[in-house]
Amino acid sequence: ALTIGIVGLPNVGKSTMFNALTRAQVLAANYPFATIEPNVGVVPLPDERLKVLAGLFSSDKTIPASVSFVDIAGIVKGASEGEGLGNQFLANIREADAICQVTRGFADPDVIHVNGKVDPDDDIDTITTELVLADMQTVEKALPRLQKELSNKKLDKSYVDEVAKALTILEDGRTLFSATVTDKLDLELIKPLQLLTAKPFIYVFNLDDETLADEALKTRLTESVAPATAVFLDAQFEAELVELDEDEAEEMLHEAGYEKSGLEKLAKAGYETLGLQSYLTAGPKETRAWTIKRGATAPEAAGVIHTDFQRGFIKVEVIGYDDLVELGSVKAAREAGKARMEGKEYIMRDGDVVEFRFNV
Ligand code: GDP
Repeated sequence: ALTIGIVGLPNVGKSTMFNALTRAQVLAANYPFATIEPNVGVVPLPDERLKVLAGLFSSDKTIPASVSFVDIAGIVKGASEGEGLGNQFLANIREADAICQVTRGFADPDVIHVNGKVDPDDDIDTITTELVLADMQTVEKALPRLQKELSNKKLDKSYVDEVAKALTILEDGRTLFSATVTDKLDLELIKPLQLLTAKPFIYVFNLDDETLADEALKTRLTESVAPATAVFLDAQFEAELVELDEDEAEEMLHEAGYEKSGLEKLAKAGYETLGLQSYLTAGPKETRAWTIKRGATAPEAAGVIHTDFQRGFIKVEVIGYDDLVELGSVKAAREAGKARMEGKEYIMRDGDVVEFRFNV
């Protein structure tokens, strides 16, 4: 499964947030998630559609999609030089499919800030610098070889040119992900180098009551990290929230004036950032959300349930979620002509309610 690596300076609230994430996982432990590992948090993705379908189909249970977060400890200044845990740190980041940096925006004078002051931009700069330096080393090492292979006509010029362009962006101190917009950098082309800053980024701003209510601040931070995603939460509040039962948590959220929990926003942002979407299956046994890449075809979607489903795929009956809810049953949807038979080429849409037909 795709994973999101959580990084951040010490004392920004990473562990607090990660513990809240794993607590949310334990609460959802009746779901068939991957085995519980200490540094992995597999978090259910809240999806209101599941409850509605479970009602229509009188399902015994609902199973949500999930997003995996990995706690990557050990960023320190100098990580790119392989100091201390530096090498392991970079190796762990390389394995993640997206990077989530937690930054500190809460003031609490009792908690020491490693950079001496509470300044999320500064936190971001510190970590970005280490990742950019690590990428520069990779590119500088690779370029001479690539240029040689290019002169031997073993490589595409467009690839080598894009790598050279990536180097100039790194020399500017910018992430390659951000340059997809500003410089139209083609990350697909330079994929073989597996560069760290080419991964999609999420920034979590760990704020307090006061800063969470500061819309101007949040707008500024959102714009400053674009095209990366900004998520605002209060890690300590989230940690308290996951200790409560569902009704109490709901009440505490409302009293604090929030519509959704920070973890819910983070799970959604993670799912989006990884380029994932869900299709749904429903029946008396269970109503379930299945995770696929955006752009996945029907047979690929079937393969998420079972490889046999993909191999023996014949066709799929698809009803859009909204149509199904409006018409109230599969039978009514069929009669209204809203149930479509789709073949191997069909590109799945988020919220498709499906039944696969396959040979075994
Ligand atoms: P880490 O080093 O990034 O993993 O940070 P921790 O999660 O261990 O948090 C460091 C300290 O800051 C702990 O004493 C936390 O209780 C505290 N802390 C974390 N999040 C918040 C927050 O949102 N508000 C306040 N006031 N303290 C926090």
